Amino acid sequence: MKIDILTLFPEMCNTVMSESIIGRAQKADKVQIECHNIRDFAGNKHNKVDDTPYGGGMGMVMSAEPIYNCYKSLYTEGEPKPHLIYLSPKGTTLNQSKVVELSKLERLVLLCGHYEGVDERVLDEIVDEQISIGDFVLTGGELPALALADAVCRMLPGVLSDDICFEDESHFSGVLEYPQYTKPSVWRDREVPEVLLSGNHAEINKWRRKQSLEITRELRPEMFKKLELTTDDQKLLGLIPDKKRKK
Ligand code: SAM
Repeated sequence: MKIDILTLFPEMCNTVMSESIIGRAQKADKVQIECHNIRDFAGNKHNKVDDTPYGGGMGMVMSAEPIYNCYKSLYTEGEPKPHLIYLSPKGTTLNQSKVVELSKLERLVLLCGHYEGVDERVLDEIVDEQISIGDFVLTGGELPALALADAVCRMLPGVLSDDICFEDESHFSGVLEYPQYTKPSVWRDREVPEVLLSGNHAEINKWRRKQSLEITRELRPEMFKKLELTTDDQKLLGLIPDKKRKK
């Protein structure tokens, strides 16, 4: 997959995307991420990319033409138009199923707004969808774009060491993840649950599933309501008797 990020602050994006798991994935050619400076497409003597809002009001609005030219530079006429997402607090809120859907595309372009936002006309002209990372407002679209790119990249084959890494994680299959522990087995008088030290993987899996279900029920009741509980799940939660289970 190739991800292009259109921004006025490319260094902000480059720095984050070159570190850790995503940085390694780029080096291993699992994903290609390129940040483009919208200012390079200003097309005027002073590299001006914003102006005051029509109708008055505070702040500056990013101009249409530099964004349009920056996007058009990514593909040649006749080529398929890459899917363009504008990160915006007005967009649809991002969730894991959207992340999985986006991870199947070959190319993604992420447009980061700044200041008061972007001239609506360029959004109407080039944007395929608007995505928000939550009901709050940030100073720019860079952090939302990085959050989206990170979440999408970790779904790509070979980015994580094993698919199991994300299949068990919160939100992938509609539940929150079970608690995790590492060494030492006792820390400040707090012990790791005994089953995790037992080496009995069938019992460990049952314990983890039960924890996931209970945590989801407690912390996210609306998610829990949507689950289709299997007979085993119902036994784990004590909703139906489990005749095989020891007291
Ligand atoms: N005036 C805009 C409004 O009220 O909807 C907010 C502009 S915000 C200060 C500047 C930029 O940050 C936006 O153009 C958008 O790209 C980005 N942004 C801010 N909050 C966001 C969020 N929750 N999700 C995605 N992008 C966001």
